[in-house]
Amino acid sequence: MISTPDDLLRLAPDAKTLEAGRKLFYSRRWRIIGGDGTWLWGEFVYGPNPMGKAIESAVKLTTGKFVCSCRARQRPCAHGLALVLMLKNAQERISVAQPPAWVRSVQFQADKAVKPVTNVVAADDRFEERLALMTSGVEELEVRLLDIARRGIADTLAQGPDLFRAAAARLTDAKLPGPAGHFRRLANLGPDGTEAQIARALADLYLFVRAWKNKEELSVKQHDELLQFAGMTTRKDDILRQPGLEDHWLVMGVVNGQEEKLRFRRVWLRGEKSRRFALLVDYAFGERPFERAWPLATSFDGKVHYYPGSYPQRAIFPHPVPGGRPYDGLIGYTSFTNMRANYQKALAFNPWLYSYPVYLQEARPAQHGHDKVLLDAKGEVIHFHPDYENFYTLLAISGGGPMSLFAEFDGYRLLPLSIVSEMGLVAG
Ligand SMILES: [Zn+2]
Repeated sequence: MISTPDDLLRLAPDAKTLEAGRKLFYSRRWRIIGGDGTWLWGEFVYGPNPMGKAIESAVKLTTGKFVCSCRARQRPCAHGLALVLMLKNAQERISVAQPPAWVRSVQFQADKAVKPVTNVVAADDRFEERLALMTSGVEELEVRLLDIARRGIADTLAQGPDLFRAAAARLTDAKLPGPAGHFRRLANLGPDGTEAQIARALADLYLFVRAWKNKEELSVKQHDELLQFAGMTTRKDDILRQPGLEDHWLVMGVVNGQEEKLRFRRVWLRGEKSRRFALLVDYAFGERPFERAWPLATSFDGKVHYYPGSYPQRAIFPHPVPGGRPYDGLIGYTSFTNMRANYQKALAFNPWLYSYPVYLQEARPAQHGHDKVLLDAKGEVIHFHPDYENFYTLLAISGGGPMSLFAEFDGYRLLPLSIVSEMGLVAG
């Protein structure tokens, strides 16, 4: 197994080649030296013209595969060894970058070569293979995050959204659609993005990197959550194997949105007896309708099956039966302090909890200058999410007085989804 530059240097065919590599390491004729966490590459110029022809050399760090355009008979050649020496002794010479075209074709050839015939490979092997691919993606992600940390967020923002988009594309290739989505959202923030938002997203991603590296130490449930954050689809059969939670479920909030060509819908349910929330997430392509309608304020009886995890939230509801009776027992927070305390507890179970459902009572919307806020009975303040568009409706329904509402809380801000009005629960 290859894990350090020394392991790679040990692959040198003989002492003479290693010595030649050492000389090349000191040479100033390297035009480009780059890496993406998995591959390391360099262009070594032949002659005095720095823009002239160059030897193209690359090494896959995880497997010790050396590819070079030079005429040496053996691999690794001196060029490849020189690159490894840079990794060992002069990392500041390596820039984290998108691979140039010739490296991409080398990567493509190398990946194609190791790809086995799929129909004879057992599912376990495919899973292992996918995990290996994800691990290399996580390693690349770490390099990238450390690079951003080194440059600083302001400098990273100044480079524009392409950096984030490129990161998202690489992560998608590495079968890490979850983290890729984080980068895509960062890219879409544009000039509205604040350093705090970006810092938080990057911190979550770094936490993911650390957790992935320690995944052998995690409990089974934490491991499941890690894979869910990575974006690995949990099989429906596995979810249905979890014991279901029978209850009378009220549809408290519905969020519709779009990511790339996919439309998504988040439906929040709350169990009458259990007082637990369950989140149903659906996707649909283009204009196609979602499989089932979940009208706000309707209720359903039946068993909800949660996705595995230490803080189960996302769920499926395979056989809902229309409730046909009133729903009681909506009790919410009257104090933001209590709400935050419970959010913290939930976060301790699952650090990647993005949207935390909260039902608030006796809260009062108010406008403080440009700030649109919600106040609790004690006058504590929470800001609304910048995407929230219905503030003035909320203000009108409240008439300036205390009201009840259901919202998603992201740790900082609230996105109201429904409001209790005289007509009952209405979209917020
Ligand atoms: Zn070479």
